[in-house]
Amino acid sequence: MVTASRSLRLDRLRSLVCGFGALLDQVPAEQQILAEGSTLLANLVRHDDWLPPAFAAPDPGRYQQYLLHCDSRARFSVVSFVWGPSQATPIHDHTVWGLIGILRGSEIAQSYVRPNGLPIANGPPRKFLPGDVDMLSPVVGDIHKVSNALPDRCSISIHVYGADIGAVHRSVFTVDGVERQFVSGYANDVLPNIWGTDYE
Ligand code: FE
Repeated sequence: MVTASRSLRLDRLRSLVCGFGALLDQVPAEQQILAEGSTLLANLVRHDDWLPPAFAAPDPGRYQQYLLHCDSRARFSVVSFVWGPSQATPIHDHTVWGLIGILRGSEIAQSYVRPNGLPIANGPPRKFLPGDVDMLSPVVGDIHKVSNALPDRCSISIHVYGADIGAVHRSVFTVDGVERQFVSGYANDVLPNIWGTDYE
């Protein structure tokens, strides 16, 4: 049974979804999406009282990507990333704009460039804490590696991408420059109901 408090908490996610829909209705430049979208996402991850446990569950084998919402025209998708202790991604790209808001724990992001095919670190690693928002795109920098900064606890971040990211063909890169295509998919079969009306 859905409680009133749960519906109210998912209202935060609904506000993000409606906010991105309204923003993208303007067909804005990417710079505007990243700027105004960062504010929308910061408003969501400022609170850690809304993500249902099913979308916050770690897996001992690898980090999890739970789809929270996908726009009907795939203009954007919202995903919860759940990191077990010390879990990390390979070096990878996205091919679309993305915003990453830290909800719980801490993450480390290392950006890369590939001037000659080999991934080269672009600046020092950056550490993120709850409420922080990072951005990426093919324009501002699209290649990174992300790690849970915590060796003994889960970390969770909420990601918004400019596509149905689980269906996008993109790439991982080894340190010696080998590129491999992948499609991430999602870990869940059921989405949270952000449209509940059983509250006053
Ligand atoms: Fe990424």
